[in-house]
Amino acid sequence: MSGVRLTFYGVRGSTPCDAKRYERYGGNTSCVALEAPGHDPVIFDLGTGVREYGDVVMSHFKAELEANALVSPYRASVLLTHLHWDHIMGFPFFTPLFRPDACIDVYGPRQDAVPLGEVFAGVMSPPYFPITPADVGGTVTFHDVEKDDFALNGAKVRSRWVRHTDPTLGHRIDLEGVSVAYISDHGPGCNPDDADDHIPQDVLELCDGADVLMHDAQHTTHEYETKRHFGHSTIEYAVHIAREAGVRHLMLFHHCPTHGDDAIDEILLHAQELAAAAPDLEVSAAAEGLVLDVPRK
Ligand SMILES: [Zn+2]
Ligand SMILES: [Zn+2]
Repeated sequence: MSGVRLTFYGVRGSTPCDAKRYERYGGNTSCVALEAPGHDPVIFDLGTGVREYGDVVMSHFKAELEANALVSPYRASVLLTHLHWDHIMGFPFFTPLFRPDACIDVYGPRQDAVPLGEVFAGVMSPPYFPITPADVGGTVTFHDVEKDDFALNGAKVRSRWVRHTDPTLGHRIDLEGVSVAYISDHGPGCNPDDADDHIPQDVLELCDGADVLMHDAQHTTHEYETKRHFGHSTIEYAVHIAREAGVRHLMLFHHCPTHGDDAIDEILLHAQELAAAAPDLEVSAAAEGLVLDVPRK
């Protein structure tokens, strides 16, 4: 395949949830794997979905061992948006971490005064959790990122600050002729001076002509009125950005835990109606387990 493959392992916002009404879209929190032949995988966020991705990686490793094949060391990069629980709590359950040959680079938002790695280790240590990043068998390296453009194993990465309740990045990857933007948590209401339909230049730079945009779609307009300070977007705003930036495929992402499968079906229909005036824009709702092949143009 020429292009990239996106696999959605966690699409839920705020907190993992499990009940019959989440069966189709899933209850694990933010985690999407981007894979392309000849490139190490890139993982967007470390929500609870990353546990399942780790099992997939380990099953390939086991198959290599059983076939007596030369086992290749495990390398991956993580593009972390921010440090809210729903974006990091899967990390200690990502079993490839415990392979001695694992080498994992985590690129995440620069924190005030203290390096990202220290802040991360602060929440992944007793009494909050018994295992620290230093206790895993593999090598984990944290990289402080802000408004940056950098190369990552053949990919071009663009990171920009987006409006949320704590320092938060959006990321874009250009790889194999495909561009993918990931803005999991984005709340225009965090800046009261901004008009509701204002799109900051940094957000446009992330989304400009992207083949796929995974964007925060947490609230309906009705819900947003009392929640604008929560740091999330309405479905209307996600579609507005996709249209203005010339995105090809918008994936509604970071579903609110109050939205069961039927509610997300309705939200998706509404978003597709809003997008109908932009004939080149496709809209889908991200679902756990979904595999999206994005071919080179
Ligand atoms: Zn979140
Ligand atoms: Zn958040």
